[in-house]
Amino acid sequence: MENKRCFANRFADYKGALCTGQDNDAIVRKVIATIEKILKKVPTDLNDCDGGLYDGPAGVAYMLYYVSECPLFSQQRDVYLKTAKQVIDVSVRYVDGEQDKNMRAAFLLGGAGIYAVAAMVYKALGLSDFVKPLTKFRNLWEVCAPINFLECGSDELFVGRSGYLCAALVLKQKLEIEILSPDQIRAICRAIIESGKQYARKKRKAFPLMYSYYGTEYLGAAHGLSSILQMLLSYQELLSSGERELVWQSVDFLMNQEQNCNWPAELGAMIERENELVHWCHGAPGVAYLFAKAYLINKKPQYLDTCICSGELVWQKGLLKKGPGICHGVAGSAYVFLLLYRLTGNSKYMYRAQRFAEFLFSDEFKVGSCSVTSIYSLFEGLSGTVCFLVDLLQPDKSEFPLFSVFV
Ligand SMILES: [Zn+2]
Repeated sequence: MENKRCFANRFADYKGALCTGQDNDAIVRKVIATIEKILKKVPTDLNDCDGGLYDGPAGVAYMLYYVSECPLFSQQRDVYLKTAKQVIDVSVRYVDGEQDKNMRAAFLLGGAGIYAVAAMVYKALGLSDFVKPLTKFRNLWEVCAPINFLECGSDELFVGRSGYLCAALVLKQKLEIEILSPDQIRAICRAIIESGKQYARKKRKAFPLMYSYYGTEYLGAAHGLSSILQMLLSYQELLSSGERELVWQSVDFLMNQEQNCNWPAELGAMIERENELVHWCHGAPGVAYLFAKAYLINKKPQYLDTCICSGELVWQKGLLKKGPGICHGVAGSAYVFLLLYRLTGNSKYMYRAQRFAEFLFSDEFKVGSCSVTSIYSLFEGLSGTVCFLVDLLQPDKSEFPLFSVFV
């Protein structure tokens, strides 16, 4: 039976040789051409800045910054960075005027992400002005520290506290300076843990930490438990031993929620094989990053096995019909192979990433995939695809955009 969510993967699997015909020059040309296409579509008006890094223009600025950091694009670097500055400056003006301070504190959908990218772009351009957006970012700490700062759920990645921690992690990695004090980070982590404990207690869960977003108990990377735990692990050295214990118990709890190498979008749901979500946002391609992080910290083989299992499912069902993006598209699937390549060094995963890259430019994909509204965007559109193609050129440095486990 035809699967309505994904194309059948007709590629032969790895037999010891990488793909030929995908030399670096060809990929570089594809990146440059795709960026041209994106820049024709990205809105430049102050009134069109909605969506933040997720599907707003700000995500395009991040992509341009990311490409400009790759030595293979040194000739394009200046133009890309200047364009990134133009784009992000409009988003900064937009979010400075945002009345809702909670939206200013949102990572992927609001101000925190925009200020973070502005700081990165300014720093890359050598402008001392990078301190301005960085200060605005730091000041948002106060907004997201109170335990119930959002009614819809205060802890998830897109608008909640985990997102703020994630942005701080990316900023520290890219700017190579301390962003928040250890006490500030500890306070945010403590709020996340306390909030999860309270929720689990109220709902009489048999495990220690749980969260909901608009009333749904999500498990995946987008609004769910996995990315919240991933952020707590990313700062685990700042937690008390008791807190760390709760986090690891929750990691193992989530590992046990696996059903045939996948996770349901929400806690307790049964996965229907023919209709399962294999997306970064919901499912194995996003949850894999939590177990990658867990494995990098304590080297327990079951965590790596869980990632490998996710990769097998993605090879089967990851040629998604929802477009080229990283949230629920082909590039998001392919990033799992780059993750596995970095974890294992096994060339099989490079090969699989190359095949998915090839598929992105095939007629079958062009004809059979859904059209995407914000085709320029980082998470749903081509900007995420560009980041993936650049990472195909530098697999040892590859990282899912704004969501690295190697920091
Ligand atoms: Zn998605």
